[in-house]
Amino acid sequence: MMTSRKNAKYGIAIIGGGPTGLSALENLTIELNRQSISEFPQLVQFDSAKNFGSGQVYSLGQPSTNWLNIPERSLWIKGRQKLIHKCFTIPAFPSYHDWIGWSKETRSENDTDYFPARSHLGKYLNLRYRSIAEVLERAGILLTVNEAITEIDVVDDQFHITSNKGNSYKVDQAALAIGHQPTELSAQLKKWEVHAAQHANLSVFSEPYPVDRFISKQQQLNQATIALRGFGLAMIDVVRALSEGLGGKFKVVDPTTMTMSFKASKRMPKKIVPFSLDGLPMAPKPLNGGIDNWFQLSDNDKRYLDEYLKLKLEDAQHQESHQFLVDVMAKTVSSIYLKLGHRRSDPQLPESEIATLASSLMLNENLSHQSIVPVDISAVESMRLFVKMATGCANVSLDYCLGQVWRHCQPLLYERLSFTKLPVPVILKIIELDERMKRYSYGPPVASIQQLLALFEAKILTLNVVDDPDIEMSEKGWVFKEDGNVLTANILINTVLDAPRLSSVNSPILKSLYAQNIIKEMHEELGALTYSDGFIMDPSGSANIRLAILGRLANGSVIGIDSLDECFSDKIRAWARSAVMRYQKSIML
Ligand SMILES: Cc1cc2nc3c(=O)[nH]c(=O)nc-3n(C[C@H](O)[C@H](O)[C@H](O)COP(=O)(O)OP(=O)(O)OC[C@H]3O[C@@H](n4cnc5c(N)ncnc54)[C@H](O)[C@@H]3O)c2cc1C
Repeated sequence: MMTSRKNAKYGIAIIGGGPTGLSALENLTIELNRQSISEFPQLVQFDSAKNFGSGQVYSLGQPSTNWLNIPERSLWIKGRQKLIHKCFTIPAFPSYHDWIGWSKETRSENDTDYFPARSHLGKYLNLRYRSIAEVLERAGILLTVNEAITEIDVVDDQFHITSNKGNSYKVDQAALAIGHQPTELSAQLKKWEVHAAQHANLSVFSEPYPVDRFISKQQQLNQATIALRGFGLAMIDVVRALSEGLGGKFKVVDPTTMTMSFKASKRMPKKIVPFSLDGLPMAPKPLNGGIDNWFQLSDNDKRYLDEYLKLKLEDAQHQESHQFLVDVMAKTVSSIYLKLGHRRSDPQLPESEIATLASSLMLNENLSHQSIVPVDISAVESMRLFVKMATGCANVSLDYCLGQVWRHCQPLLYERLSFTKLPVPVILKIIELDERMKRYSYGPPVASIQQLLALFEAKILTLNVVDDPDIEMSEKGWVFKEDGNVLTANILINTVLDAPRLSSVNSPILKSLYAQNIIKEMHEELGALTYSDGFIMDPSGSANIRLAILGRLANGSVIGIDSLDECFSDKIRAWARSAVMRYQKSIML
C-alpha cells in the first residue's frame, strides 16, 4: 500500500489514522473538491497501527470480548457520498446501519440492545478508510505510512516530521489526530513495578490493552489471584478476557433481565479482585430502546436547552460558575423524571423539589436522599439495583434518570460548550461534572454487569476489597485489606486509562512539540489551547502556526472527547475548511 516518497514535500499531513484520522481525510477530500481545487495538495497520513481507519481502539485483531459501549441502534455513523473529481472518483460508502443491514422498521423497541465487538466496528472503519485512501493513493495524491511519528520540528516555516524508523517528511500543514497517548506512570504503579521486578513470582501490567497478553497460551493463570486497579469499562474488558476469553462460559438464564450463570474453565485465574478509590460500579444502559425512550428529551425540551445554552454562552466570559448548566439540566431532568410517574422510585416527591434535588446532586455526588441510590451500599447491591432499573424491574432513582438524560443531552452539550470563552475554572467544573456523570452516561450494557454478577456468584470475582482498600506489598504479592477482609494477589493489572492531560503525556511526539514551545496546555489538568477549527493557539502569540490538534488532546478547548460521535462531528469539518483555505492561500503566494 505504501510507496516511498520520503523526500517529497507534502501539503498536509494527518498524524493518526484512527476514526478521527479517517474523518479528517474524508472531510479534507470533500472540501478540496467542493472548492474546485484542481491541483490537490500532496497528502500524507501516518499511523503506527497497521489498519488505518480502525486505529488501536477498534483494531481488527483484538478479541471479541472487547465490546463497544454503544448499542448498534445508536451507531449513527452517516454514510459518505460519491465524490467525482476530474481525475478520480471516490465511491460512496454506506452508513454503519446500512453496512450491517440494520433498519428501524425490522426492529421492535423491546428487542434487547446489541453491543457489537469493537473489532466489528473496526472492520467497517478500516473498509471505509481503504475505499477512499486507495483511490487517492492511485491518483498519486496520498501516501499512507505505517510508522509512529516521534518528532515534529519547525524549520523555515515548515514541519519536519520524523518517524520511529528514522524517516523524515517535510510538510506545510499538519493535524494531530493521535487519540490516547501514554502518560507518566503514577508513583504507585512505579513502586509496584519495582516490587514485581524484585520477585519472580509476581507480575504487574501497567496497561489493560491489548488484553491478548493476559490470555496467551504462555500465561499460566489457573493458580493466580489477579487484582485489577480500576472499576470501570476497561476493567470489564479485562474481566471478560480473563473469563470468557479463557474458555469460561456465560449462559443467559433469563433474557428479560439478561441474568446469567457462569461455568469456569481450567485455564482461568482462581480469583479476580477489582478495586478503586470509591468502589462505585458503573450503572448499565437501559436494556432496550423502549426503556431508553423514557429518558429521551422531547423536541421542546431540546429546543429549550439549546436556546438557554446559546443565551448563557453569549456572555460566556462573565460566567462565574457552571451553575447555569446545573440549572438547565436540573430543569430538563425534572420534567423527564416527573413524566416517569409511577416508575419513579419516589412518586410522592413534589415537582417543586425534583429540580432542587437534581441540582444538589450535580453539585454533591455524595448527596443522600431516598430518591437517590446511596453511595455507601455495597457494589453488588448497587449493581443489582441498577440492573433492575435498566431492565424496567425496579422504579427509577433520580440519579439513574439524571445519568441517562445527561447521555441524551451530550451531543448538544458538547456542541454548545466547546470552544467558548468560558473562564478556565468554569470549564474545569463542567468537565468534572461530565466525567462524574460518565458512571451512568457511559454505562456498559446490562449484559456486562450481569456477567460481573455471575462471576461474583461463581465466587471468581471478589468485591470484598473493592472500595479503597489498604494495600501492602509482601513477597507473596499485594495484600489488600478492607473492613477485616484480607486478600493477596500475585498479578496486578492497571485498568485505569491515562487522563487527557497534555502536561503529563510523555510520548516523544508531544515532548518534541513542548520542547519547541509550539503547543501549550489550557490548564495543567487539560489539553491544548485550540481555535474552533482545531488549529493551535500559538503560545508566543507571534505566528500563525499551521498545526491542528483534533480530538482527545484538545480536551478543554473541546468539551466531550472520547466518543465516536465526536470523531465524525462538524469539528473535523471545520478543520478541513480551514486547512483548505490555508492551502489555497499558500498556493496563491
Ligand atoms: C479502550 C477504549 C474503548 C473505547 N470504547 C469506546 C466506545 O465503545 N464508544 C465510544 O464512543 N468511544 C469509545 N472510546 C473512545 C475512543 O477514544 C473514540 O471512540 C475514538 O477511538 C477516538 O478516535 P481517535 O481517532 O481520535 O483516537 P484513537 O482511536 O485513539 O486513534 C488514534 C490513532 O493515532 C495513532 N497514533 C498515536 N500516536 C501516533 C504517533 N505518534 N504516530 C503515528 N500514529 C499515532 C494510533 O495508533 C491510533 O490509531 C474508547 C476508548 C478506549 C481507549
